[in-house]
Amino acid sequence: MRGERLDKLLARLGLGSRKEVARLVRSGQVQVEGQVVRDPAFHVPPGARLEVDGELLVLRCHHHILLHKPAGYVTSRREGPSVYALLEGFPTRDLSPVGRLDKDTEGLLLFTTDGELLHRLTHPRHKVEKRYLVHLERPATREDQEAFREGLVLEGTRLLPAELSWDQDPTRVELVLREGRFHQVKRMFQARGNRVLYLKRLSLGPLTLGDLPVGQARYLSQEEEEALY
Ligand code: URA
Repeated sequence: MRGERLDKLLARLGLGSRKEVARLVRSGQVQVEGQVVRDPAFHVPPGARLEVDGELLVLRCHHHILLHKPAGYVTSRREGPSVYALLEGFPTRDLSPVGRLDKDTEGLLLFTTDGELLHRLTHPRHKVEKRYLVHLERPATREDQEAFREGLVLEGTRLLPAELSWDQDPTRVELVLREGRFHQVKRMFQARGNRVLYLKRLSLGPLTLGDLPVGQARYLSQEEEEALY
C-alpha cells in the first residue's frame, strides 16, 4: 500500500485547506520520518512519523495487516520462528496480533496497531465469528454438533454456542466460534473424545483470506477496513 497523500493527510488532520497545506509542504516545514518532504503528492507510509515545524503530529493513522500464516510459526515476537519474520517490509512497530494461532495452525491472522479494534475483535462480549476448517482423527457426530450448539462446558466454563458442520466427510468439518480461548478448537474436540489433525482459520468477522498465498501478508483494503469499523 502506498499510504495517503501528504497534502490530503495534513488537510484531513485540520492543518488547513489542500492549498494551504501544499504551501506548508513546499516551504519545507514538513518532515516525514525525520526527512523534509517538499512534494505535497508524496505518499506517507502508514504509521509514519510526521512533524510540522518540528512538532510531532499525533496520528491515529492505524494500519492493519492480514497474514496467511503457515504452520511452523509462533504468534509471538519473542519466540521463533516468529510470525513477525513473515512481515518483512511492513512497519511492525506497535503492531499486535488479533488473537493467536497455535504454531501448527494455518490461516488468517490479523495484525493491527489499533488497541481498541483489537479489543473489540477478541473480547467474547462482541461475539465476532471465527470460522475454522478442521481435519479430525475420527468422524464428527450429530451429538458433537448438538453439544457444541448448546455450549460445551470446558473445565467449568460454559462456552458460547458454536456451529459445527460438514458436507460429505465428517472428518473434514467447519467450526464457527464466537470467542477465542486458549487452544479452544483442539480442546473442544478433545472433550468429545476426538483429536484435531489439521487446523486452519478461514475467516475473522468479515475478513477472509481470498487468494492470498500461504506465507504472504497484505494491508487490508479500504472496504475491509470499513467493514471492521
Ligand atoms: N483453536 C486452537 O485450538 N488453536 C488455534 O490455533 C486456534 C483456535
